[in-house]
Amino acid sequence: MRILLVEDDQALGEGIRTALKPEGYTVDWLQDGASALHALSHESFELAILDLGLPRMDGLQVLKHLRAAANPVPVLVLTARDATSDRIAGLDAGADDYLIKPFDVAELKARLRALLRRSFQRPEPALEYRGIRLDPASQVVEYQGNTVSLPRKEFLLLHELLIQPGRVLTRDKLQQALYGWDEEVESNALEVHVHHLRKKFFPELIRTVRGVGYLVDK
Ligand code: CA
Repeated sequence: MRILLVEDDQALGEGIRTALKPEGYTVDWLQDGASALHALSHESFELAILDLGLPRMDGLQVLKHLRAAANPVPVLVLTARDATSDRIAGLDAGADDYLIKPFDVAELKARLRALLRRSFQRPEPALEYRGIRLDPASQVVEYQGNTVSLPRKEFLLLHELLIQPGRVLTRDKLQQALYGWDEEVESNALEVHVHHLRKKFFPELIRTVRGVGYLVDK
């Protein structure tokens, strides 16, 4: 579950990130609006936590740009205590929920869970590929009618690959999807996941493109 946190307050950003890690979220953290808009437009996140008062483009502008581009990523807005007008503007601009600072971490977690639950009810269709069926909503994977249980990272990897058969995914892109930007990753971690997926399904499922990355054929 990859979340983008956009918060320019160092202490609050650290605090949120530390609190969310044990929940199994991969949290990438940016501290200005322009970088956030770029990241949200070019990479995939399950959710964004967006402060409104940000350098280089405020949160409201980020949100407006995202929604104007029909980007559906769920957004939880963080606002200052007395800024009622901010809150309303945030919701009007397409925020899915908001939290007023200072907030309790337990409440933040509860809001995130609720948002993610709602967003997974948006029907993302099941992916079918040569006997494999992957349902993003229920997170169930079947092969030739039998359920295959996959660890989280393998599920994410298979999902990335099956979304666009025929397209080569670079190692960088896959590593970001699986681990975020600054999680320490063993250099061969990706190979190990690929190896496991080939074993659980069939060897030709994932093709290695030397020096570039991986793909599943069309
Ligand atoms: Ca701020």
